[in-house]
Amino acid sequence: MSEENRTEISSLGEFGLIDHLTKNIELHNASTILGVGDDAAVIDHFGKQTVITTDLLIEGVHFDLTYTPLKHLGYKSVIVNLSDVYAMNATPTQITLSLAFSNRFSVEALDEFYEGVYAACEKYDVDLIGGDTTSSQKGFIISVTAIGEVSPDNFVKRSTAKKGDLLCVSGDLGAAYVGLLFLEREKKIFMEHPGVQPDLEGESFVIGKLLKPEARKDIVEFFAKEEVVPTSMIDISDGLSSEILHLCKDSNLGCVLYEEKIPVHEEMKKAAYKFEIDPTACALSGGEDYELLFTIPQADYDKLVLNEKISVVGYMTEPEEGAHIITKGGSKHAITAQGWNHLK
Ligand code: ADP
Ligand code: MG
Repeated sequence: MSEENRTEISSLGEFGLIDHLTKNIELHNASTILGVGDDAAVIDHFGKQTVITTDLLIEGVHFDLTYTPLKHLGYKSVIVNLSDVYAMNATPTQITLSLAFSNRFSVEALDEFYEGVYAACEKYDVDLIGGDTTSSQKGFIISVTAIGEVSPDNFVKRSTAKKGDLLCVSGDLGAAYVGLLFLEREKKIFMEHPGVQPDLEGESFVIGKLLKPEARKDIVEFFAKEEVVPTSMIDISDGLSSEILHLCKDSNLGCVLYEEKIPVHEEMKKAAYKFEIDPTACALSGGEDYELLFTIPQADYDKLVLNEKISVVGYMTEPEEGAHIITKGGSKHAITAQGWNHLK
């Protein structure tokens, strides 16, 4: 951004800034009775149940502004929360967004961030209904709360999988992690040799997965259409192994996972090989995929095969059996939160 285009936040003041950032909001949901502009927002869920989830994102811990465009960061800040709502089998309807930033940021920089926020709101039909704006000494801090609705008692917990249920995942896994490896590598080169241009040629797939993730609205809509209610569900933010262990522990079950069934994209495999790492390891222990991991009764298998974006990767067992992966070579290993040590 050139210096001439820089508007100091102090020139608008806090209320002027909030008004600037929120003046074009168009509401998408009948449940949004009152949005930005009062002491609180008002929501009516017309007899449905409400789910609420919140996430805090800290510069230097959760994101790195050296390689994360602000628009993408705004988009992703919303998506990670919507993903948690979908993981409850609910439909997101509203978000609140709170920010803290230093005078290092200009109005134009915040505009870029909000462009991403509004793009996600538009795509997923959610309303931004409030937030808070404050200063920080250093660094950018983002807190998003997402609210969603679900038909009474149709929400899906982590703790209710049953023995014999099929273990399923949406989409493909591990790509965001490989994207992160590329961006971290280029950052390191740049820090050591500031003149060198980044070499990200051909890696748009994995970098796109990291910088512009999507939440699985389509999968939850598919469940509703086919009248499938998963017996348990979680979103994959920390890698497949870690999330499988959550389902097993909370449902008091074991499971068998087949390595050959884990969905990985061809582009991700090629990129992983460039780093000489195992694609399966990326899927198991990477993170930030925002896919859904869920269990369904075997009787629903016929409905699932209708959706090519869903892969059956294993099944749930007695707790005594523990959580295991059967590798492509046929050997059996315990799944650990750092699952890839076994596979190296
Ligand atoms: P209060 O003093 O009652 O907390 P604020 O002045 O903080 O009110 O906020 C005024 C209105 O603007 C409220 O509706 C609030 O939810 C909304 N708001 C504040 N900051 C943001 C933001 N960063 N993004 C969206 N809405 C915001
Ligand atoms: Mg306030």
